[in-house]
Amino acid sequence: MAFVGAVNEESGEKSWWDFANCLGVDPDLFFPERGASTKEAKEVCRGCIVKEDCLEYALSHGEKFGIWGGMSERERRRLRRQRALARRAASEHAV
Ligand code: SF4
Repeated sequence: MAFVGAVNEESGEKSWWDFANCLGVDPDLFFPERGASTKEAKEVCRGCIVKEDCLEYALSHGEKFGIWGGMSERERRRLRRQRALARRAASEHAV
């Protein structure tokens, strides 16, 4: 999602986004116009060591736009649906 640098001002501790591969990268790359390529943004994400944190952040905060954790909106929607189905199946087995 192209963080431009953030410090956890409350604790002063480093956050996962301090290690983001997209620090300083043009944010527009991560918010492509409808139908435009997401390839370049995903390429930046590919080598990112906080990819999982980024993806989970986007999922838990319901981020609807942009590339997060190497995934597009559509891909995140699909993942959310898959997880919801898995949770439902697990709860049905638990009964
Ligand atoms: S996964 Fe991608 S969008 Fe997320 S922090 Fe890393 S480079 Fe940035």
